[in-house]
Amino acid sequence: MNKKYRKTLIAGNWKMNLVPSEVKPFAEELRTLMPKTKTCEVAVMVPFTHISTLRRTLKDNRISYGAQDVSIHEKGAFTGEVSADMLADLNAHYVIVGHSECRQYHGDNDFTVGQKAAAVLEKKMTPIICVGESLEQRERGLTMEHISYQVRAALSFIPEGKERQCVIAYEPIWAIGTGKTATNEEAQEVCEGIRAVIRAKCGARVARGVSILYGGSMNPKNAQELLSMPDIDGGLIGGASLKPRDFAQIIDAVAKVTGEE
Ligand code: PEP
Repeated sequence: MNKKYRKTLIAGNWKMNLVPSEVKPFAEELRTLMPKTKTCEVAVMVPFTHISTLRRTLKDNRISYGAQDVSIHEKGAFTGEVSADMLADLNAHYVIVGHSECRQYHGDNDFTVGQKAAAVLEKKMTPIICVGESLEQRERGLTMEHISYQVRAALSFIPEGKERQCVIAYEPIWAIGTGKTATNEEAQEVCEGIRAVIRAKCGARVARGVSILYGGSMNPKNAQELLSMPDIDGGLIGGASLKPRDFAQIIDAVAKVTGEE
């Protein structure tokens, strides 16, 4: 499968970290350390309260920014929620939908995830749709069955012809924040499986063009090997994205894989 048809994306997920007054110095450090790259898009997904500061601080567009969740509703009486329109108005580029922590703590399910992805696309941003199996599902041999359903359910909400604009992130739940990473082969096998699911549902052209990320304890030590896998087009990075030097080294790993360096 030829990677030239897809964008490479290194996306940080800050989760619920940093207070607004810490964001500007943090983002400035990130900008300073950011390797020059033509082959890789870089983005950080941050709490809603940090987006305006990033908008001012990251003006040169070398690092994009986005949110970690979004409402399924357009506007109105939905106390506490943030709409896709609000994020688009702040120039957010990406929105994570269906992160396993949102599925676990905020009641997201395969249908709300699809609705959220559609709401994000509608406002011309890119959804990063997270899918992944639990340890029990892996041990029972249900990984691909589960993930195939998650991918098909999410894509069923996407208007025909727009599927290629989605990014899928394969994040085995047992690898998130645990320091346990899927082996390169395990990660590749599932990402290849996800591409096959997309091919069966949307055709070969779409499958060839959708970027699939791996997420789950990616760090400067394991990034290069994971990113060398033929169906892994980037990373969704939690813990290591909060260490600017580590995050920059992961971006550097892309340059090594693509031969840019
Ligand atoms: C994540 O939050 O999506 C993630 C992959 O976290 P970590 O890199 O810390 O495992």
